[in-house]
Amino acid sequence: MSEPRSLRYPAVEAVLSKSQIERIMKAVEERFDDQVEFLQEVVRAHSLRGNEAGVQKIVSNALANRGYDVRSFAIDPTLIGKDPAFSPTKFDLSNSTIVVGSKNPQRNGGRSLALNAHVDVVPVGTSSRWKYEPFSATREDDWLYGRGAGDMKAGLVANLFALDAVAAAGLDLTAPVQFQSVVEEETTGNGAAMVLAKGFRADAVLIPEPTGEKVVSANTGVIKFAITVQGVPAHPLEVASGRSAIDIATRTMEHLRRLEQQWMAERPVARPEFADVGNPIALTIGTIAGGEWLASVPSECRFEGRIGFYPGDKAETRAASLETFLKDASLSDPLLKGCPEPEIEWVGVKQGGFVLSPGSEAEGVLSAAHILADPSESELERFVMPCYLDAAVFALHGGMTSLVYGPVAENIHAVDERVSLSSMMRVTKAIALFAAAWCGVQARAEQA
Ligand SMILES: [Zn+2]
Repeated sequence: MSEPRSLRYPAVEAVLSKSQIERIMKAVEERFDDQVEFLQEVVRAHSLRGNEAGVQKIVSNALANRGYDVRSFAIDPTLIGKDPAFSPTKFDLSNSTIVVGSKNPQRNGGRSLALNAHVDVVPVGTSSRWKYEPFSATREDDWLYGRGAGDMKAGLVANLFALDAVAAAGLDLTAPVQFQSVVEEETTGNGAAMVLAKGFRADAVLIPEPTGEKVVSANTGVIKFAITVQGVPAHPLEVASGRSAIDIATRTMEHLRRLEQQWMAERPVARPEFADVGNPIALTIGTIAGGEWLASVPSECRFEGRIGFYPGDKAETRAASLETFLKDASLSDPLLKGCPEPEIEWVGVKQGGFVLSPGSEAEGVLSAAHILADPSESELERFVMPCYLDAAVFALHGGMTSLVYGPVAENIHAVDERVSLSSMMRVTKAIALFAAAWCGVQARAEQA
């Protein structure tokens, strides 16, 4: 007791003793081989959209074995279009369940916490371009390769083993904790929306997306669209009387690029914190299909994409202004004049962006936990993540403080996705210390 207490981590040290902090971190280290093995198991249970049943079975078994009260439920499609937290989709999600494991303490005195992660992963692209088979979960030195390893199964596993470490340190949390394993983050966010619709709430939610051990200060709103344009089909003999739907689509994309520039230009006024982000709006055309026959002027073309916008606006407002912008363009552009108006469908995420207000208690506790887990760090860095995050659903529709903080990963959504295992260990320690300090702890009563 003679050692002076450090003043660097008041938010954690106000709750945990030095020996409790050490025991928690040691418990993470002692279980780390098991943690890596479990990560390999969940990466191998590949979970592309609509195919998450296998990994969710592994997760719900792991939770049940640890004494969580486990609930599994599907996304209720009747809420889409009714509940503003939900985004539009036509995809059949009847095989995609969400799993939530809860633990309620005997003595409840602290602040409740939800640890959230998504299990859905994006397609691998051409698997022959990968160094290792994308779902083999191959380990090479500090890296574990695999689709979903970084985004975000390492985070999912970190959540689980962080809570294990607190328990293994002989401590019980003194506030309710939820372990949420959701689907549909990559397409709609409807997994997170369904968690809220089921009534799950907490004083804070932590989502260990691969953020490189930084905390997300803000993200962008995102709307995802599919646009179909009609031309006038013709035989090459009468090419002058035809109008190519592919040309019309290309022109429509050029107009969207102008809209992207307009939205980007709002930055200095709207969001100075986005100053360092190259292109936060990031109009992306992801797919295109058009034409019917090599030697006919194409009749129809369809493309899909997404566009971002600064936090503060509703997705509905932005969607309406995109529709108006394209309508005006099709009336004033000679190439588009006279063609049927483009048909715009909203086909995925339609969600605003969120801002993590500086100075929250939750961020303070996480900063302290982060520095304890990695003594080479002197602060928890903030950064803007200009993409959709489930944190937006919890912040905007659940009124929850939403922390996004997770390990170092490379090549997410690309070839050779991989996560750093030493980083996963540090993040697991930080989450464990965060959970303990946020919820509060008591020494577990000796069992008779
Ligand atoms: Zn992710």
